[in-house]
Amino acid sequence: MCPPGHRHDLEGSVAQKAFASSADLDEKERTLEVLADGVYALTAEGDPNVGAVEGEDFVVCFEALATPVVAREWLAMLRQHTDKPVRYLVLSHYHAVRVLGASAFDADVIVAHENTRALVAERGAEDWESEFGRMPRLAKGADSVPGLTWPTLTFSDRLTIDLGGDRGDLVLDYCGRGHTEGDLVAWLPQHKILFAGDLVEAEAALYTGDAFHREWASSTLDRVAAYGAEQLVGGRGGVTKGRSAVGAAIDQTREFLTVMIREVGAVHEAGGTLKDAFDRAHAALEPGYGHWPIFEHCLPFDVSRLWDELSGVDRPVIWTAERDREVWDRLQD
Ligand SMILES: [Zn+2]
Repeated sequence: MCPPGHRHDLEGSVAQKAFASSADLDEKERTLEVLADGVYALTAEGDPNVGAVEGEDFVVCFEALATPVVAREWLAMLRQHTDKPVRYLVLSHYHAVRVLGASAFDADVIVAHENTRALVAERGAEDWESEFGRMPRLAKGADSVPGLTWPTLTFSDRLTIDLGGDRGDLVLDYCGRGHTEGDLVAWLPQHKILFAGDLVEAEAALYTGDAFHREWASSTLDRVAAYGAEQLVGGRGGVTKGRSAVGAAIDQTREFLTVMIREVGAVHEAGGTLKDAFDRAHAALEPGYGHWPIFEHCLPFDVSRLWDELSGVDRPVIWTAERDREVWDRLQD
Protein backbone atom coordinates (compact mmCIF):
# COMPACT_ATOMS: atom_id res chain seq x y z
CA MET A 1 0.00 0.00 0.00
CA CYS A 2 1.03 3.60 -0.44
CA PRO A 3 1.76 5.86 2.52
CA PRO A 4 -1.31 7.63 3.84
CA GLY A 5 -2.03 10.74 1.80
CA HIS A 6 0.60 9.74 -0.75
CA ARG A 7 0.65 12.00 -3.79
CA HIS A 8 1.62 10.88 -7.23
CA ASP A 9 2.46 14.29 -8.66
CA LEU A 10 5.79 15.02 -10.28
CA GLU A 11 8.69 17.02 -8.92
CA GLY A 12 8.82 20.81 -9.23
CA SER A 13 11.05 22.95 -11.38
CA VAL A 14 14.00 21.12 -12.91
CA ALA A 15 16.14 24.20 -12.36
CA GLN A 16 16.04 23.65 -8.60
CA LYS A 17 18.25 21.26 -6.70
CA ALA A 18 16.35 17.96 -6.59
CA PHE A 19 14.34 17.55 -3.41
CA ALA A 20 16.12 15.59 -0.65
CA SER A 21 17.34 12.26 -2.12
CA SER A 22 14.64 12.11 -4.81
CA ALA A 23 17.22 12.16 -7.62
CA ASP A 24 19.53 9.62 -5.97
CA LEU A 25 18.42 6.51 -7.86
CA ASP A 26 21.62 4.51 -8.32
CA GLU A 27 21.64 1.14 -6.58
CA LYS A 28 24.23 0.86 -3.82
CA GLU A 29 26.43 -2.17 -3.37
CA ARG A 30 25.54 -4.20 -0.31
CA THR A 31 28.19 -6.02 1.70
CA LEU A 32 27.53 -8.67 4.32
CA GLU A 33 30.34 -8.91 6.83
CA VAL A 34 30.83 -11.53 9.52
CA LEU A 35 32.11 -9.53 12.50
CA ALA A 36 32.47 -12.50 14.84
CA ASP A 37 31.06 -16.02 15.06
CA GLY A 38 27.32 -15.54 14.43
CA VAL A 39 27.46 -11.72 14.23
CA TYR A 40 26.57 -10.10 10.91
CA ALA A 41 26.38 -6.61 9.47
CA LEU A 42 25.05 -5.54 6.11
CA THR A 43 26.34 -2.19 4.93
CA ALA A 44 25.45 -0.41 1.72
CA GLU A 45 27.71 2.52 0.81
CA GLY A 46 25.87 4.99 3.02
CA ASP A 47 22.38 3.51 2.79
CA PRO A 48 20.87 2.28 6.08
CA ASN A 49 22.76 -0.59 7.71
CA VAL A 50 21.25 -3.68 9.32
CA GLY A 51 22.58 -6.52 11.39
CA ALA A 52 21.92 -9.92 12.91
CA VAL A 53 23.16 -11.91 15.89
CA GLU A 54 22.79 -15.67 16.23
CA GLY A 55 21.55 -17.17 19.45
CA GLU A 56 21.89 -20.87 20.15
CA ASP A 57 18.63 -21.74 18.42
CA PHE A 58 17.32 -18.41 17.12
CA VAL A 59 18.41 -15.19 15.43
CA VAL A 60 18.08 -11.60 16.58
CA CYS A 61 17.79 -9.19 13.66
CA PHE A 62 18.68 -5.54 14.09
CA GLU A 63 16.70 -3.06 11.95
CA ALA A 64 14.12 -3.94 9.31
CA LEU A 65 14.87 -1.73 6.28
CA ALA A 66 12.18 0.24 4.45
CA THR A 67 9.98 -2.42 2.87
CA PRO A 68 9.39 -6.18 3.07
CA VAL A 69 10.71 -6.51 -0.50
CA VAL A 70 14.07 -4.98 0.47
CA ALA A 71 14.14 -6.84 3.80
CA ARG A 72 13.68 -10.17 2.00
CA GLU A 73 16.78 -9.44 -0.09
CA TRP A 74 18.77 -9.02 3.13
CA LEU A 75 17.26 -12.14 4.67
CA ALA A 76 18.26 -14.13 1.59
CA MET A 77 21.87 -13.07 2.17
CA LEU A 78 21.63 -13.89 5.87
CA ARG A 79 20.13 -17.31 5.07
CA GLN A 80 23.38 -18.27 3.38
CA HIS A 81 24.89 -18.22 6.89
CA THR A 82 22.11 -19.42 9.19
CA ASP A 83 18.63 -20.90 8.89
CA LYS A 84 17.64 -20.29 12.51
CA PRO A 85 14.25 -18.61 12.95
CA VAL A 86 14.06 -14.90 13.80
CA ARG A 87 12.86 -14.73 17.39
CA TYR A 88 13.58 -11.03 17.94
CA LEU A 89 13.52 -8.11 15.56
CA VAL A 90 15.13 -5.13 17.30
CA LEU A 91 14.34 -1.63 16.00
CA SER A 92 16.82 1.10 16.94
CA HIS A 93 14.23 3.86 16.43
CA TYR A 94 10.98 4.67 14.66
CA HIS A 95 12.11 6.01 11.27
CA ALA A 96 10.24 4.47 8.34
CA VAL A 97 13.30 3.37 6.36
CA ARG A 98 14.38 1.31 9.41
CA VAL A 99 11.10 -0.29 10.43
CA LEU A 100 8.58 -0.75 7.62
CA GLY A 101 10.20 -3.94 6.29
CA ALA A 102 9.38 -5.69 9.58
CA SER A 103 6.71 -8.07 8.30
CA ALA A 104 9.31 -9.93 6.18
CA PHE A 105 11.12 -11.19 9.29
CA ASP A 106 8.20 -13.12 10.73
CA ALA A 107 9.70 -12.40 14.16
CA ASP A 108 8.12 -13.67 17.36
CA VAL A 109 8.92 -10.41 19.15
CA ILE A 110 9.50 -6.88 17.83
CA VAL A 111 11.54 -4.90 20.36
CA ALA A 112 11.92 -1.13 20.63
CA HIS A 113 12.29 1.57 23.23
CA GLU A 114 9.01 2.66 24.81
CA ASN A 115 9.41 6.15 23.33
CA THR A 116 9.68 4.59 19.88
CA ARG A 117 6.32 2.92 20.29
CA ALA A 118 4.83 6.26 21.32
CA LEU A 119 6.41 7.98 18.30
CA VAL A 120 4.97 5.38 15.91
CA ALA A 121 1.54 6.10 17.39
CA GLU A 122 2.01 9.85 17.31
CA ARG A 123 3.72 10.39 13.96
CA GLY A 124 4.45 7.07 12.25
CA ALA A 125 2.05 7.67 9.38
CA GLU A 126 3.40 11.16 8.67
CA ASP A 127 6.98 9.90 8.87
CA TRP A 128 6.19 7.10 6.41
CA GLU A 129 4.96 9.54 3.80
CA SER A 130 7.80 12.00 4.48
CA GLU A 131 10.63 9.46 4.28
CA PHE A 132 9.36 7.60 1.24
CA GLY A 133 9.09 10.98 -0.52
CA ARG A 134 12.59 11.98 0.50
CA MET A 135 14.24 8.64 -0.33
CA PRO A 136 12.21 6.86 -3.02
CA ARG A 137 15.05 4.51 -3.92
CA LEU A 138 15.04 2.97 -0.44
CA ALA A 139 11.30 2.37 -0.71
CA LYS A 140 11.54 -0.32 -3.39
CA GLY A 141 8.39 -2.39 -3.29
CA ALA A 142 6.55 0.26 -1.27
CA ASP A 143 3.25 -1.49 -1.94
CA SER A 144 4.49 -4.51 0.04
CA VAL A 145 4.34 -2.57 3.34
CA PRO A 146 1.25 -3.87 5.15
CA GLY A 147 0.97 -0.92 7.55
CA LEU A 148 2.82 0.68 10.43
CA THR A 149 5.24 -1.49 12.42
CA TRP A 150 4.22 -1.91 16.07
CA PRO A 151 6.76 -3.06 18.65
CA THR A 152 5.41 -5.90 20.79
CA LEU A 153 8.00 -5.55 23.58
CA THR A 154 9.28 -2.22 24.88
CA PHE A 155 11.56 -1.12 27.70
CA SER A 156 12.75 2.11 29.30
CA ASP A 157 16.41 1.60 30.32
CA ARG A 158 17.78 -1.85 29.50
CA LEU A 159 16.64 -5.18 28.09
CA THR A 160 18.98 -8.19 28.07
CA ILE A 161 18.54 -11.11 25.68
CA ASP A 162 20.30 -14.35 26.70
CA LEU A 163 21.63 -15.80 23.46
CA GLY A 164 21.93 -19.28 24.93
CA GLY A 165 24.82 -21.75 25.11
CA ASP A 166 28.10 -19.89 25.57
CA ARG A 167 27.05 -17.02 23.31
CA GLY A 168 26.56 -14.54 26.12
CA ASP A 169 24.05 -11.70 26.20
CA LEU A 170 22.81 -9.12 23.76
CA VAL A 171 22.20 -5.98 25.79
CA LEU A 172 19.77 -3.35 24.55
CA ASP A 173 20.33 0.03 26.20
CA TYR A 174 18.76 3.45 26.12
CA CYS A 175 21.52 6.10 26.21
CA GLY A 176 19.31 9.18 26.36
CA ARG A 177 17.74 11.37 23.70
CA GLY A 178 19.75 11.78 20.53
CA HIS A 179 18.88 11.12 16.89
CA THR A 180 15.31 10.71 18.18
CA GLU A 181 13.86 10.50 21.66
CA GLY A 182 13.75 6.70 21.51
CA ASP A 183 17.07 5.39 20.16
CA LEU A 184 18.44 2.15 21.51
CA VAL A 185 21.84 0.55 21.00
CA ALA A 186 22.61 -3.18 20.93
CA TRP A 187 25.78 -4.29 22.73
CA LEU A 188 27.53 -7.63 22.61
CA PRO A 189 29.89 -7.60 25.63
CA GLN A 190 31.49 -10.90 24.66
CA HIS A 191 32.69 -9.51 21.33
CA LYS A 192 32.74 -5.80 22.21
CA ILE A 193 30.56 -5.09 19.19
CA LEU A 194 28.07 -2.21 19.27
CA PHE A 195 25.15 -1.66 16.91
CA ALA A 196 24.60 2.07 17.40
CA GLY A 197 21.73 2.80 15.02
CA ASP A 198 21.66 6.40 13.83
CA LEU A 199 23.32 7.68 17.02
CA VAL A 200 26.64 7.25 15.21
CA GLU A 201 27.32 7.56 11.49
CA ALA A 202 30.54 6.42 9.86
CA GLU A 203 31.41 8.97 7.21
CA ALA A 204 27.78 9.62 6.37
CA ALA A 205 25.97 12.86 7.15
CA LEU A 206 23.75 13.06 10.22
CA TYR A 207 20.01 13.36 9.95
CA THR A 208 18.96 15.48 12.92
CA GLY A 209 15.44 16.52 11.91
CA ASP A 210 13.97 14.66 14.90
CA ALA A 211 16.95 15.12 17.17
CA PHE A 212 17.89 16.60 20.53
CA HIS A 213 21.19 18.07 19.45
CA ARG A 214 22.64 19.24 22.75
CA GLU A 215 21.82 16.05 24.64
CA TRP A 216 23.04 13.87 21.73
CA ALA A 217 26.36 15.77 21.48
CA SER A 218 27.03 15.46 25.21
CA SER A 219 25.63 12.86 27.60
CA THR A 220 24.22 10.47 24.99
CA LEU A 221 27.42 10.14 22.96
CA ASP A 222 29.40 9.97 26.22
CA ARG A 223 27.42 6.86 27.07
CA VAL A 224 27.94 5.40 23.60
CA ALA A 225 31.68 6.00 23.86
CA ALA A 226 31.82 4.43 27.33
CA TYR A 227 31.18 0.91 25.97
CA GLY A 228 34.73 0.87 24.65
CA ALA A 229 33.51 -0.95 21.54
CA GLU A 230 36.09 -2.59 19.31
CA GLN A 231 33.69 -2.80 16.35
CA LEU A 232 30.83 -0.42 15.71
CA VAL A 233 28.01 -0.66 13.20
CA GLY A 234 26.53 2.80 12.77
CA GLY A 235 23.33 3.74 11.03
CA ARG A 236 25.06 4.40 7.73
CA GLY A 237 28.57 3.90 6.38
CA GLY A 238 31.02 1.04 6.77
CA VAL A 239 31.68 -1.05 9.85
CA THR A 240 34.19 0.71 12.08
CA LYS A 241 36.93 -1.60 13.35
CA GLY A 242 39.41 -1.01 16.14
CA ARG A 243 39.16 1.16 19.24
CA SER A 244 40.65 4.24 17.66
CA ALA A 245 38.46 4.04 14.54
CA VAL A 246 35.37 3.61 16.72
CA GLY A 247 36.44 6.62 18.75
CA ALA A 248 36.97 8.60 15.57
CA ALA A 249 33.47 7.78 14.27
CA ILE A 250 31.92 8.89 17.55
CA ASP A 251 34.07 12.04 17.54
CA GLN A 252 33.07 12.86 13.96
CA THR A 253 29.40 12.49 14.85
CA ARG A 254 29.88 14.75 17.87
CA GLU A 255 31.84 17.28 15.82
CA PHE A 256 29.09 17.53 13.20
CA LEU A 257 26.60 18.29 15.97
CA THR A 258 28.92 20.68 17.75
CA VAL A 259 29.58 22.73 14.63
CA MET A 260 25.86 22.92 13.91
CA ILE A 261 25.07 24.00 17.47
CA ARG A 262 27.80 26.65 17.35
CA GLU A 263 26.96 28.10 13.93
CA VAL A 264 23.18 27.97 14.13
CA GLY A 265 23.40 29.14 17.72
CA ALA A 266 25.41 32.21 16.74
CA VAL A 267 22.81 33.28 14.18
CA HIS A 268 19.96 32.53 16.56
CA GLU A 269 21.60 34.58 19.31
CA ALA A 270 22.21 37.50 16.96
CA GLY A 271 18.57 37.60 15.89
CA GLY A 272 19.22 36.34 12.34
CA THR A 273 16.91 34.24 10.21
CA LEU A 274 16.61 30.51 9.68
CA LYS A 275 17.98 31.00 6.17
CA ASP A 276 21.02 32.83 7.59
CA ALA A 277 21.55 29.95 9.98
CA PHE A 278 21.32 27.39 7.19
CA ASP A 279 23.81 29.26 5.02
CA ARG A 280 26.25 29.62 7.90
CA ALA A 281 25.98 25.98 8.96
CA HIS A 282 26.36 24.85 5.35
CA ALA A 283 29.49 26.96 4.89
CA ALA A 284 31.03 25.58 8.08
CA LEU A 285 30.21 21.92 7.43
CA GLU A 286 30.51 21.59 3.68
CA PRO A 287 34.32 21.53 3.44
CA GLY A 288 34.62 18.60 5.84
CA TYR A 289 31.35 16.76 5.36
CA GLY A 290 29.88 17.87 2.03
CA HIS A 291 31.06 14.76 0.20
CA TRP A 292 29.38 12.40 2.67
CA PRO A 293 26.18 10.61 1.65
CA ILE A 294 22.93 12.55 2.15
CA PHE A 295 24.65 15.76 3.33
CA GLU A 296 22.68 18.11 1.07
CA HIS A 297 19.52 16.10 1.65
CA CYS A 298 19.69 16.32 5.43
CA LEU A 299 20.99 19.77 6.23
CA PRO A 300 17.82 21.85 5.65
CA PHE A 301 15.82 19.54 7.93
CA ASP A 302 18.67 19.43 10.44
CA VAL A 303 19.02 23.18 10.75
CA SER A 304 15.27 23.64 10.91
CA ARG A 305 14.98 21.29 13.89
CA LEU A 306 17.99 22.79 15.66
CA TRP A 307 16.52 26.27 15.19
CA ASP A 308 13.33 25.08 16.88
CA GLU A 309 15.33 23.45 19.66
CA LEU A 310 17.23 26.67 20.32
CA SER A 311 13.90 28.51 20.27
CA GLY A 312 12.63 26.35 23.13
CA VAL A 313 10.54 23.86 21.12
CA ASP A 314 11.26 20.77 23.21
CA ARG A 315 9.92 18.00 20.99
CA PRO A 316 10.50 17.97 17.21
CA VAL A 317 7.64 19.25 15.08
CA ILE A 318 6.14 16.41 13.03
CA TRP A 319 7.52 16.23 9.48
CA THR A 320 4.91 15.84 6.80
CA ALA A 321 5.44 15.64 3.05
CA GLU A 322 4.11 19.20 2.80
CA ARG A 323 6.34 20.58 5.54
CA ASP A 324 9.35 18.84 3.97
CA ARG A 325 8.79 20.78 0.74
CA GLU A 326 8.21 24.09 2.49
CA VAL A 327 11.44 23.86 4.46
CA TRP A 328 13.36 22.59 1.44
CA ASP A 329 12.15 25.42 -0.79
CA ARG A 330 12.93 27.97 1.89
CA LEU A 331 16.48 26.83 2.53
CA GLN A 332 18.05 24.67 -0.10
CA ASP A 333 17.94 26.76 -3.24
ZN1 LIG B 1 16.87 7.62 11.66
